[in-house]
Amino acid sequence: MFYSEPLYYQTPYATSLKATILAIVEEKGVKALILDKTLFYPEGGGQPGDRGFIDQVKVVDTQLNKNGEILHQLEAEGTFSVGQEVTLSLDWDHRYDYMQQHSAQHLLSGTLYNLFMIGTVSVHLGQGEISIELNTDALSDAQIIAVEESVNAVIRQNVPISAKTVQQEAIPSLNLRRSVKVEGAVRLITIEGSDLIACGGLHVKESSELRYIYYLRSERIRGNLRTFWIAGKRATDAIRRNNAIVDRVGTLLSAPPEGIVEGVTNLQKEVTQKQYEGNQHALKVASLLFEELLKRKEVVGGIPLVIFDASSWEEVYLKQLPELFLEIPSLALAYVTQRADGKVGWLLCLKGVDEGDKLFKRFKEEALPLIEGRGGGRPPLWQGIGALGEAKEEFLVRAESLLRRHLSG
Ligand SMILES: [Zn+2]
Repeated sequence: MFYSEPLYYQTPYATSLKATILAIVEEKGVKALILDKTLFYPEGGGQPGDRGFIDQVKVVDTQLNKNGEILHQLEAEGTFSVGQEVTLSLDWDHRYDYMQQHSAQHLLSGTLYNLFMIGTVSVHLGQGEISIELNTDALSDAQIIAVEESVNAVIRQNVPISAKTVQQEAIPSLNLRRSVKVEGAVRLITIEGSDLIACGGLHVKESSELRYIYYLRSERIRGNLRTFWIAGKRATDAIRRNNAIVDRVGTLLSAPPEGIVEGVTNLQKEVTQKQYEGNQHALKVASLLFEELLKRKEVVGGIPLVIFDASSWEEVYLKQLPELFLEIPSLALAYVTQRADGKVGWLLCLKGVDEGDKLFKRFKEEALPLIEGRGGGRPPLWQGIGALGEAKEEFLVRAESLLRRHLSG
């Protein structure tokens, strides 16, 4: 087993280090280096593994393997050899972001506990937000505001956030927020006046580094409440971004920020009205086109028979046809339409036709295979898609002869 000295605990703000390669390994198809010491934190305790560079080669992730060895996972093989001295450069933006997120989560969990005796069940440090599952089914607006006010007051007071290691025996007298699950020596994180808990992650050293924390939203889960928060640079970036969005939308609507909701609501109403008018118009055009079709129909066995290639029809009018079929008592109709992807759409309507089911069965067995057609439906309407666009005329000829034979027989 190769041991790497975890310097990220002693010097969490260091961003570069010279180290020596102890081993070059490949696990699960990923090449990785094990070093005599490292600044790269391996994923654990909800905090993702560090990234950066070793010499010129990118480190995409840092993970502990099952032996407890720290693997610096490489994007490319490089030209490394055991015993070689290398330079580690940490992706500081990524690391510091998670130091902020992790510390903010402690402060939030500690504050929720101190103010309302609400416990933290689980946490997730996401790429955009912090989620904290709480053992309560609701937080009131007043509680949320109280938490926000309290954590941001702690940020302004700039209290120290510190780590220390104590022996297991000392734990019971310390009044930790949550019981300890590890054996042996325990690493404790203190946010002065707000929180004390065991944690193996990396944190900022002063609360002012958290900049600003605010609540986003929550959802019920397994009888608990999952709450979402944003902190640190993410919080100030999000405020800037959201202000820009509000400004842009306000300009588009020619409305002040407080008029945006009303402006969008009015727009929605307008769109709904236009859609309605558009549909009514399409129905009118489609019914004229359909009337033209019916003028050229033939009546077989007392049923109007309409077979046509609808490729020249616009989709918007074609979609109206089924509604128009409702208005006539009997109809035997089939069409195909060429689609942009080279396939064809097909439709069959058998209204007032005796044994329509039987006819559809024959249609399915004898006509649809010509275009490799799939689809289905129920009386009086069936429709679907065929893969063989080039066979659509043959398909229409077959469909017509099937329908004609059925209606006259
Ligand atoms: Zn922590």
